[in-house]
Amino acid sequence: MATLVSKVQATVDFEKNGKQFGYLDVPHSRDDSGWGTLRVPIAVVKNGSGPTILFTGGNHGDEYEGQVALVKLARALDPKDVAGRVIMIPFLNYPAARASRRTSPIDAVNMNRAFPGERRGTVSQLIAHYVSTLILPLCDLVMDFHAGGRTMTYQPFACIHRLEDRPLFDRTKAALLALGAPISLVLQELDAEGMLDTQVESMGKVFVSAELGGAGTTTPTTVGIADRGCRRLLAHLGITRPTAENTPPTRFMDTSGPGCYTISNHGGLFEMLAELGATVKAGDPLAQIHSMERPEEAPIVYRAARDGMLIGRHHPAVIQQGDFMALVAYDA
Ligand SMILES: [Zn+2]
Repeated sequence: MATLVSKVQATVDFEKNGKQFGYLDVPHSRDDSGWGTLRVPIAVVKNGSGPTILFTGGNHGDEYEGQVALVKLARALDPKDVAGRVIMIPFLNYPAARASRRTSPIDAVNMNRAFPGERRGTVSQLIAHYVSTLILPLCDLVMDFHAGGRTMTYQPFACIHRLEDRPLFDRTKAALLALGAPISLVLQELDAEGMLDTQVESMGKVFVSAELGGAGTTTPTTVGIADRGCRRLLAHLGITRPTAENTPPTRFMDTSGPGCYTISNHGGLFEMLAELGATVKAGDPLAQIHSMERPEEAPIVYRAARDGMLIGRHHPAVIQQGDFMALVAYDA
């Protein structure tokens, strides 16, 4: 028997015109289901020739705006209104989304550190490998929705990375601005290896992401940004007709300079002193940490290292040494 490119089998045909709901069937032989399969939902809407866009949600399971927006988009899209192809995977790390976890409860893999995946890996690595080898080559643009998950919250923004390939960066920035989030950001990643982002960019394709809300839930505001962003990106690529509305103003910001990230060097009771979205000056207090072992001690105060907007924060009320605490962005 010839070796298959992937052990994952799609029940949809990516070349077929029309709308299809199906699954990526991932072999998952286990104690309670010897010949079991993990079925990851996927939807494809195609009409004739034109660009291909991949939308993904649930890359981290506990980040839900993309998941909500994409199940709605998949139901709503009419192939008649499409020129090209729209591929939607609302729950990329499906077991993690079901369990409201960042990582998979099956193999403990963080999907967004698993790319390009492994052909003979665990279920998460198999999904990443299938996407890398069989879906990404079809795509012109990938939009991957994130949020803060259960441990972070954000002032909602869409984001891209600084790229050495200038023409690719210019196309990526144009897509980011077309998405029309309230804030558009150049994000400096703490650990970019193994991310879907890095894989798509290494293939010379446009990659846009977003960090919308957090705390493991959604709000009308954050889902609305995802809903409208999907529509605007489709129109930007010419897959759907331009919408009547003008793209709303966006605030273009950056986090790639020094002093944007604050990482906690203490554990204890976490008290935020600045609101998300607040303008801060270098030296302003961001948060303080109270000792839970020695409450008589003065709290440790963490201060902004630069001027900007507080755009991300640690969410739980208890913090540990090494946790991400705060992200300050500045106007680009
Ligand atoms: Zn995420």
